[in-house]
Amino acid sequence: MSAINRKTGQTGQTGQTGPRIVIVGGGIGGLVLAGMLHRHGVAATLYERDAGLDAHAPGGSLDLHPESGQRALDELELTAGFQAEARPEGEDLRILDRAGKLLGRRAPEPGDGTRPEIDRGSLRGLLLSKVPDCTIRWGRHVTGVEPLPAGGHRLTFADGAQSDWDVLVGADGGRSRVRPLLTGARPVHLSACLQLTITEADLRRPRISRFVGPGSLMALGDNLNLGAQRSGDGTIRVSVTVRTDDGWIGRQRFDNGDWTGTVARLHDMFAGWDPELTALIDACDPGSLIARNIEALPVGTRWSSHPDVTLLGDAAHLMPPVGEGANQAMLDGVLLARAIAEHAGDPGAAIAAYETEMFERTAEIGAGSAQMEQLGLAPDAAERMAAIFG
Ligand SMILES: Cc1cc2nc3c(=O)[nH]c(=O)nc-3n(C[C@H](O)[C@H](O)[C@H](O)COP(=O)(O)OP(=O)(O)OC[C@H]3O[C@@H](n4cnc5c(N)ncnc54)[C@H](O)[C@@H]3O)c2cc1C
Repeated sequence: MSAINRKTGQTGQTGQTGPRIVIVGGGIGGLVLAGMLHRHGVAATLYERDAGLDAHAPGGSLDLHPESGQRALDELELTAGFQAEARPEGEDLRILDRAGKLLGRRAPEPGDGTRPEIDRGSLRGLLLSKVPDCTIRWGRHVTGVEPLPAGGHRLTFADGAQSDWDVLVGADGGRSRVRPLLTGARPVHLSACLQLTITEADLRRPRISRFVGPGSLMALGDNLNLGAQRSGDGTIRVSVTVRTDDGWIGRQRFDNGDWTGTVARLHDMFAGWDPELTALIDACDPGSLIARNIEALPVGTRWSSHPDVTLLGDAAHLMPPVGEGANQAMLDGVLLARAIAEHAGDPGAAIAAYETEMFERTAEIGAGSAQMEQLGLAPDAAERMAAIFG
């Protein structure tokens, strides 16, 4: 089968033998897959809806684990680049209660830490450096996916163009458009997360900067989590996580245009908390609040293998954000690329082998992440987290 653009009538990569592979989504997992397929000499095309890497604020810091995220960087020969960008001191974590009492601290000695932090934007930049320019098509929003009678899938784009592909990989995140081809599983609402920023913290908010320290802090109580984390660009990211129903954000009327009202509502949530903690709220940049619902797929979501479509990353196993999602998406990318290379000419066998391992691995990690999420918003969260991390 050839990849035919229904609008332009042009075929895809000329001279290519083997199945035509398309990846939808150029997030962390999609970029690893594209880079690893290139390393294995397998051609693929990646469609990303954003216009480029800088289309959005890059988001916070991620800690990469040796057996997953760091392994992917190693396989992509990006370890030196990672070490240049990573912040080992970012592993410093303090757990406090609502009274500001320090209950636990994880502070690895220099050289002892295993999970250095890296800014999400820096990570995506590194991964993109391993993806050939001709592979990635920016600003291509896939709005429809449809199976073809003889196998393969037809993609439809926001501008009405269409193209047909032999093998489709959904790397399109938690709200995946590809997922319904394989499973009826849907993400379940868990909580709301309010994210705010303090830019140029050392310069503009030196007291707050010293209070947050080189890594992050978490203050827990009243089924709330108030977090602060330093990024490599000198920004401190403040987060508020609260157990809610999925309509809560809409009812709160958080409005960046009414900053005084928004700050007052945030203070109401933390009434009675230590003033040094609530000072974090006052230090945030006016207008910086982004509110999002946190969701997860049911733990152990799986499907019967199809020979021409699969998923990776959040599309396959959206988990609560407790430090595994990006790491597992990166490992998925490595292992799917390897399976495709090893089963050259038989994508069905490659997908079945990849999914067998991926389902088992991510079911276990998803269960652990779900437990951690429960614990993080439990009434005695501070004590229990301190017992784990202290
Ligand atoms: C607040 C928060 C904190 C987190 N902290 C951590 C952490 O510390 N450590 C960790 O490991 N994980 C963390 N995670 C989870 C991590 O961000 C995700 O698991 C990871 O980004 C998943 O990568 P992905 O490539 O599967 O999906 P994404 O990063 O969501 O990428 C999907 C890509 O697909 C594109 N796309 C979507 N739909 C379409 C379409 N229709 N057409 C074309 N393109 C499309 C999107 O634009 C996007 O670029 C956190 C998540 C949140 C929300």
